[in-house]
Amino acid sequence: MATAIAGHTFELFINNQFVKPASEEYTDILNPATNEVIAKVAAAGIHDADLAVDAARQALGGKWAGLTPARRARILNKIASLIAERLDTLAETEVRNAGKTIAGAKAEIGQVIEDFEFYAGAVTKIAGATLPVPPNFFAYTLKEPVGVCAQIIPWNYPLLMAAWKVAPALAAGCTVVLKPASPTPLTALMLGQICAEAGCPPGVVNVLPGPGAVIGAHLAGHPGVDKIAFTGETATGRTIMEIASATIKRVTLELGGKSPSIVFEDADLEAAAAGSCHAIFYNAGQSCDARSRILVQESIADAFRKTFIRKTQALKVGDPLDPATHVGAIISRRQLEKIEGYVGIGRQEGAVVACGGTRPQDPALAKGNFLMPTVLDQVTPTMRVAQEEIFGPVVVLMTFKDEREAIELANATQYGLAASVWTKDGARAQRVAAALKSGGIAINSAYSIFPGLPFGGYKQSGFGRELAMQTLDLYTETKGVVAYTGTKPINPFAV
Ligand code: NAD
Repeated sequence: MATAIAGHTFELFINNQFVKPASEEYTDILNPATNEVIAKVAAAGIHDADLAVDAARQALGGKWAGLTPARRARILNKIASLIAERLDTLAETEVRNAGKTIAGAKAEIGQVIEDFEFYAGAVTKIAGATLPVPPNFFAYTLKEPVGVCAQIIPWNYPLLMAAWKVAPALAAGCTVVLKPASPTPLTALMLGQICAEAGCPPGVVNVLPGPGAVIGAHLAGHPGVDKIAFTGETATGRTIMEIASATIKRVTLELGGKSPSIVFEDADLEAAAAGSCHAIFYNAGQSCDARSRILVQESIADAFRKTFIRKTQALKVGDPLDPATHVGAIISRRQLEKIEGYVGIGRQEGAVVACGGTRPQDPALAKGNFLMPTVLDQVTPTMRVAQEEIFGPVVVLMTFKDEREAIELANATQYGLAASVWTKDGARAQRVAAALKSGGIAINSAYSIFPGLPFGGYKQSGFGRELAMQTLDLYTETKGVVAYTGTKPINPFAV
């Protein structure tokens, strides 16, 4: 399994070629499960970023613009099929670079393929409209690519986040400078090469690993960039929005979350416990839409707690390449320590660690970044552990009396990304779904992400929607065109 990337040096991907960074600086890429170096990756500097933006700018007005929508659709489909052909290599790379489980990586790459296929189908449906204007005028809209898009992504779903960004941009006819997160650039670079092989002309997709505070910030302020699409922490999103304001760039932000699973007394307890367990511990809790707060109705709290903890303790933490592993590694030692810090904060605030909270006993895992799935019980809404994004395998349990209080609690954070509602009462499910200030709601399920269904945040979870047809509006400009069709010249000043 170590063969695909072991000892490999990855360069920057600009103009369909792998090129050395001007500084000739390289970063060690670690396997979070062992903290061993698995590859070296070029670190882009300002000069490289400028080259990539220039390449994307040239490509925008070049051969890419001349392709028919049907041809562009074929390229997107080809990208999907090349990813499918290389699924095993991409999945192995994703596991070794991000610490996620092999089962998770394969499922995510399955969705990456569907994302490209979805947008391949969408390309030929991007259309303007004719509009009702006064007689003797004819008006219509043109949908045009927004231009060069800098796309900045996080480390938790390296290839999936790249697909969410690159697929709609290409569908809309834009060109891309993709900046992967510093710890996880490998599959993004592989995607760059796949896009080239699939027929994207040089400069259409450029991939620039490099430090966010330097390269990301430079792209956010670059006059040659028309749009920034960012996924990451809310604090970073705020900085990007500020930098991008100087050139009034189009900005979309997919940010953090503190999403709830809300379990009502009439829910199927087994299903609610299993779903809530998956919704927090999938990807070791490092998901923007992780349901990191469980709100359970008082009348069933004891029964739910027992079932949920039993299921949590049954999860296998281990080697991410082992297909039996449920919970893989945390991205870095620093992130592990940050999560452990939150467990300590929870204790100080009066929460009870009902299970987990420690590193696994297995000596084989000692070199990696692992934490046992952790349940913090007796949490109250104003505690930091109930408000702040921990971004690890830690869930807080809180109780509510009735529907009104459930909604109030669910909405009582700065975030609003996702929520699950567990109830057998269909009318209640609809009422609660409507009352939640959240971009995505799953009813009796942990899943709220499918290609075609808009995904994005309310409040400080960001703005803009990904994965859907409406995403294309965020990658196109709408131009209004009006023509005078009358037979007599217009002379309003009568001069
Ligand atoms: P991060 O904000 O630290 O980094 C994200 C990206 O921004 C990286 O590529 C990084 O290099 C770059 N960056 C860092 N500083 C920058 C700056 N000053 N200017 C420009 N770019 C900069 O986030 P992370 O730690 O990589 O990812 C975890 C966060 O991402 C969590 O908060 C999570 O909730 C969020 N996330 C959100 C979604 C969503 O769709 N809403 C999806 C996945 C992850």
